[in-house]
Amino acid sequence: MRTTECESIILGVMDYREADRLVTFFCHEHGKLRGVARGAKRSRQRFGGALEPFARLCLQVVLKEGLTQMQGADIITIYPGIRTDLARIGCAGYACELADRLLPEGVANPRLFRLLAAFLEFLDHSPCAESERRFFEINFLNVLGYRPALDYCAGCGAELAGMERYGFSAAAGGLLCPHCGTGANPVSAATVDLLQRCLKTGRFGAMDFPPEVLAEAGTILDASIAILLSRPLNSLAFLSELKGQMPDSSVQNG
Ligand SMILES: [Zn+2]
Repeated sequence: MRTTECESIILGVMDYREADRLVTFFCHEHGKLRGVARGAKRSRQRFGGALEPFARLCLQVVLKEGLTQMQGADIITIYPGIRTDLARIGCAGYACELADRLLPEGVANPRLFRLLAAFLEFLDHSPCAESERRFFEINFLNVLGYRPALDYCAGCGAELAGMERYGFSAAAGGLLCPHCGTGANPVSAATVDLLQRCLKTGRFGAMDFPPEVLAEAGTILDASIAILLSRPLNSLAFLSELKGQMPDSSVQNG
């Protein structure tokens, strides 16, 4: 059995059997994989406490059908800055849970790997602003091929330009022209423009979301993501709880 080195981000960790851990990780080269870390629950020796959510590791694994066998791990970074702040832990956990739930298994996606790594890098040094989470989400949907239609009508395909307001429907798959959009959520041109600009820059911390735009973008993104999931994300409940408990926390600052 050949051992392979995998640069990976840990997406989730669960106790498994008596002494083992079941780990979902996103490998730069092989995509999302699930593996067993034998003895990792009982002894920290082999994995040195490295198997933590959103840690970036160099894993030694034996790739095979079904569950990958995990042999060892070297830490690249555990993103220590994120771990000092509940709101940032919540945000990083959310990004990883989203990847865990929506990535197909065993399909490489280096672009998405770079996006997730860039978000974690950003959170390691900066507070978790909601605008950055929205920036991550629109780019995440785009890379996975789930981007809502923003420049044409999701109903009839007509090109959308020069209007002040649009309708939005997650079920239809994006913006709707006035003809198709009766009863849909209204969205301003400013929000559409900002979301489109988010897709053109790959850099976190570069976009400024005014409050109305942030709220509208949030409605679009929440609905576009919810429609892809069979059940709600645990991390989203945690984020909302934090938001409720800490009205002045950095979670809310756009
Ligand atoms: Zn239409």
